[in-house]
Amino acid sequence: MAEDTITALATAWGEGGIAIVRVSGSESAAIVDKIFRAKRRFSEQPARCMTLGTLHTKDGTLFDEVLAVRFERGNSYTGEESAEIHCHGGALSAQRCIEELCSLGARMALPGEFTRRAFINGRIDLAQAEAVAGIIKARSDEALTASARSLQGSFTEKIRGLMERLTTLAATLEVDLDFPEEGEGFISKNESAVRLDELLAECEELISRCRSGMLLRDGLRAAIIGRPNVGKSSLLNALLAENRAIVTATPGTTRDSIEETFIYKGLPVRIIDTAGIRETTDEIEEIGVQRSLKSMEEADIILRVIDSSEGDLTMEAALPAAAKRQIIILNKSDLPARITEADIAAHFPDHPRIAVSAAHGSGLDELKELILKTALSGGELAGGYSVTARQMECLARTKEALSAARAALSAGIGDDLVLSCISDARAQLSSLLGIDASEDLLDKIFSSFCVGK
Ligand code: GDP
Ligand code: ZN
Repeated sequence: MAEDTITALATAWGEGGIAIVRVSGSESAAIVDKIFRAKRRFSEQPARCMTLGTLHTKDGTLFDEVLAVRFERGNSYTGEESAEIHCHGGALSAQRCIEELCSLGARMALPGEFTRRAFINGRIDLAQAEAVAGIIKARSDEALTASARSLQGSFTEKIRGLMERLTTLAATLEVDLDFPEEGEGFISKNESAVRLDELLAECEELISRCRSGMLLRDGLRAAIIGRPNVGKSSLLNALLAENRAIVTATPGTTRDSIEETFIYKGLPVRIIDTAGIRETTDEIEEIGVQRSLKSMEEADIILRVIDSSEGDLTMEAALPAAAKRQIIILNKSDLPARITEADIAAHFPDHPRIAVSAAHGSGLDELKELILKTALSGGELAGGYSVTARQMECLARTKEALSAARAALSAGIGDDLVLSCISDARAQLSSLLGIDASEDLLDKIFSSFCVGK
């Protein structure tokens, strides 16, 4: 099997200790032979061993001293014959090296092409390929672990496990369809229901672990809302433990929204401090109000701040009721409380609440913990899988199909409907792994990678 030989810089452009040029394809060693000089020809060197040598242009001019390593087909990242040349850092030598390789028959790799080849050659599945992108983009240790776990294939194993059990269930149900005269059949309705319930539960647990992984990677967006002067900006500052937003005692000074991020237990939390939401005739503030409504829409979680030293909760009714996860924050707990527990319970029966003092810094750790708990809806941050939005979508559809199968079974509509739902669920899982993925889909996925990966 011959494929064209691609090359790219695998490390970041710019100055550094070393710059690694990657080469992959059937002609890798033959092409590197022409620019790399050492005691032994590159193509005859033992695989996976670093060799010291020099790089030369076509006319023989020496331009760098490098280490080079050769990988045999079947035993490399892409699965193809490949090579790595470790040039001295600084873009010039690596650039020259790539130019020489290209003039000798290699071509520049497209974004993600090395990983795409790894996928095409069956070295990794799509879930793992996407985990590679996750590792590159990870901004915290925990996010990195979540991606690495997916790359190691433990996520893939779970998906394959689900698929196998779905296949077994479908096969059993099919036998019953084909031989209805066999009376009770191979599998009782009860047994099918039990198995479907187990699969559903597993699918849900997987979704919750993926949600943790996604949160770790993308961070959580939290919008602070509340009436003017309740202490929104103070709270933001206290959470960030630095003075970023402008705090004043005049209502309505935080006109624009301000965004800041803090990291709690590896979870990046992006907080948006919005202008106070209230009826206003002031034009600038009106814009602020619109912004807060918008940021509420975009937020994953809403932090509603209330001044507990003020007796009046009636104004709260004027704020839009958030359908989302919301935490009621009773600020200024250092001052005598003027709203009663009963008032709050009456106004916000369904939301978790917490008392803090932004000014004195009390209750902040508890608040951070509550944010985490609310965002994960009881799930754990640890053990997350880093998946892409596409994979999450596949899982959500799998769950839908399984629920539909379960409903059809309960309703006694017939095995063929149950079977078709199960087959939908399996189709979703195989698309998650990239089985029979279309070129378009692959283009879309790999184009988001960087060149050289
Ligand atoms: P915002 O309009 O909701 O952003 O409110 P600010 O953060 O600008 O705060 C309004 C006023 O309340 C300022 O004078 C703050 O110093 C004060 N404030 C904020 N948090 C607390 C608190 O926890 N305790 C007390 N006593 N005052 C606070
Ligand atoms: Zn403010």
